[in-house]
Amino acid sequence: MTVRLDEMTSPELDARVKAGPPVVILPTGAFEQHGPHLPLGTDAMIPQRLAERVAAQIDALVAPTLSYGYKSQPKSGGGNHMPGCASLDGATYTLMVRDLICDFARHGLTKIVLFDGHMENQMFLTEAADLSLRALKSEGITDVRIVKMGYWISINAALEKVLFPDGLISWELEHAAVMETSVMLHLAPDLVRRDLIPDHPPADFPLYDVYPFDPASVSHSGALSSAAGATAEKGKAVVETLVPELARQITEAFQNMTV
Ligand SMILES: [Zn+2]
Repeated sequence: MTVRLDEMTSPELDARVKAGPPVVILPTGAFEQHGPHLPLGTDAMIPQRLAERVAAQIDALVAPTLSYGYKSQPKSGGGNHMPGCASLDGATYTLMVRDLICDFARHGLTKIVLFDGHMENQMFLTEAADLSLRALKSEGITDVRIVKMGYWISINAALEKVLFPDGLISWELEHAAVMETSVMLHLAPDLVRRDLIPDHPPADFPLYDVYPFDPASVSHSGALSSAAGATAEKGKAVVETLVPELARQITEAFQNMTV
């Protein structure tokens, strides 16, 4: 039986809901440059593939991935000016997520996980959760419970040592670098341009931000630090550590909700 909502029929889904609402995981990503070596859809592909593995472990379902996200930021994603980035304004993105949560809930899918692969989405997901609960309450629907997480939350010290045996430079500069490249080498090896994996010093940003942003103020490959240390074995370690741990955390989150 599929874990994907888009592969189910309406009566099949209805029967699942009537048997007790399943957890629905909504992967949220971005369409964002990931250097010369990773595809534009990296931030959507990783959470989608992890979500399908997590769902299989806890009998959950996976909603169609939201493959567009909030704008790429220079210090965490290279910046929205880079070729190929297509993003949503914060208000648009928030309302898209709000609308989907509301419609899922109206059809009885009341346990929702916002499962993020793009850091810039985070606070807009928080806002979408808040607005959807408020809207649903006004319709008399009060049994909706939402869990928000980035897929990276369960990266622990042991995994960090596997990924960065010589020490982690900074998670902020990990965009299109060792972690994402390793995970893609494991999950989607045919999509990684191995001969173009960048190896250069980490990007160096001022502590402040200025607007309008000057694209000339950053010169980098699109990766914010070297991806040369990436391997498929490291990616496998990440996936094999994260999937059971995220499954455990989702289960725990819904069990522990007291309001
Ligand atoms: Zn990314």
